Amino acid sequence: MKKIIVAGAGHGGLTAAYNLSKNGFDVTVFEKGDREGLGYDWHDALNYDAFDYAGIERPDRSLIRDGVQSGFENPSANVKLVIPYDPTGFMMDRRVLLKYLIDNAEKVGVKFQFGCEITGAVFDGLSVAGIKYVKDGEAMEKRADMVIDACGMYSPVRQSLPPCFNIKEGFEAKETFHVYRVYFENITGEILNPPYLISLFHMGKPGIDWVLTEEDSVDILVGKFGTAGALTEEEIEAAIADYRERYPFIGEKIVRGGAAGEIPLSKMLPLLVADGYALVGDSAGMTIPLNGSGIVLSMQAGKILADKIISCDADAFSIENLWNYQYEYFQTLGKDLVMIDILKNFFTHCKKKDIDYFLEKKILTEEMLDFGKGINITPQFILHIIAVGMPLIGLVPPLVNNLKSIPSIDSVAAQMPEEYSKEAVSEWVEKYSRL
Ligand SMILES: Cc1cc2nc3c(=O)[nH]c(=O)nc-3n(C[C@H](O)[C@H](O)[C@H](O)COP(=O)(O)OP(=O)(O)OC[C@H]3O[C@@H](n4cnc5c(N)ncnc54)[C@H](O)[C@@H]3O)c2cc1C
Repeated sequence: MKKIIVAGAGHGGLTAAYNLSKNGFDVTVFEKGDREGLGYDWHDALNYDAFDYAGIERPDRSLIRDGVQSGFENPSANVKLVIPYDPTGFMMDRRVLLKYLIDNAEKVGVKFQFGCEITGAVFDGLSVAGIKYVKDGEAMEKRADMVIDACGMYSPVRQSLPPCFNIKEGFEAKETFHVYRVYFENITGEILNPPYLISLFHMGKPGIDWVLTEEDSVDILVGKFGTAGALTEEEIEAAIADYRERYPFIGEKIVRGGAAGEIPLSKMLPLLVADGYALVGDSAGMTIPLNGSGIVLSMQAGKILADKIISCDADAFSIENLWNYQYEYFQTLGKDLVMIDILKNFFTHCKKKDIDYFLEKKILTEEMLDFGKGINITPQFILHIIAVGMPLIGLVPPLVNNLKSIPSIDSVAAQMPEEYSKEAVSEWVEKYSRL
């Protein structure tokens, strides 16, 4: 039986583990956290499609809550765009979701090793052959036919790969989103319209904040693009104070959360695979680059990866076969996110007044901000932005610099080699990295 190690009990790794074990592979997940303490004390927006796609039974209604209508406001809070309600969407507590994925994986035979701090990869020549980890203070190694790296954005496995693997070691500041999330009590039970309001460049800070009202609590996220530096205590307090002034029903008592985190905000990393190794989820940069949602993408990627391994009779863990996973992920999902990443890079140059202008002049619309539906930006649209954006003269150079790659996305996608060859893939990786 072929042995697979999943490094980190992330959503993508758990989805791959479930599907591989169900199909006869011997899968062990190594996770640094405790089984009970995994995840965060907050909920996430999901949809049933993610489970259908991942081949995992939909969670029972008792485990989820209905989704809510969302909308965006500009920094001056005088323009509000409401996103059409998605009836397939729902909310699920992070801890409930992880428990659900772990329980499902265990039912089909996946083994779990909790409390293992992974420190890097084990190599056989230029193949990944296992992981190094520390358990109860003791350094250990575990070998396998393949390692699926689902260890998140600071994956120690990815960071331990030698440069000749050509896999990017980490994320740059412009590819990082610093966030803080907290739930306060809702004193009166008042619900905003829309209940989930996302503030662009709230208080002038480059990034997004949100306030999500439920009868018993108000969920606040404060988020800042990494290009603008780390999120400070003062910025968190200022954002919360502003929401509290506008919505006096937000109480002082913290009822959940109250934790900071970082999310990659980037297009997919240029290369995700090596002999005996594949990246999935945050460790591969699989999030929506403007808002950091990554759960659905991670689950989808985990399923694609498992399918490619399962459907290959011989040499399932070679880079040649695993490249098929990267190819399919990019062509079906990753390609559309490149556009969003370019837009995000452009937005990091903007000021509060620019974002106000974009919403007031309807340059940014509901359709564009409905990230889940994908963005279709044509060269005509870019010309439109440049024409309407002319009064923002300081923005023209970053506009031209950042958005000029958009028309190349389709051609770079078309040039992606369908079959792996070292030279063709290295050439493609270079072109993709320049987008
Ligand atoms: C504040 C916040 C809010 C978010 N809200 C949403 C949302 O509403 N919707 C959404 O889709 N996404 C959201 N995200 C993003 C989402 O959390 C990630 O995109 C998603 O979890 C990626 O899953 P993953 O499979 O990469 O694994 P991760 O969730 O990153 O999990 C990685 C796992 O690896 C483990 N690990 C890490 N290092 C080691 C190590 N050295 N040894 C052993 N184990 C290790 C970790 O403990 C963890 O269990 C949010 C993120 C944050 C921080």
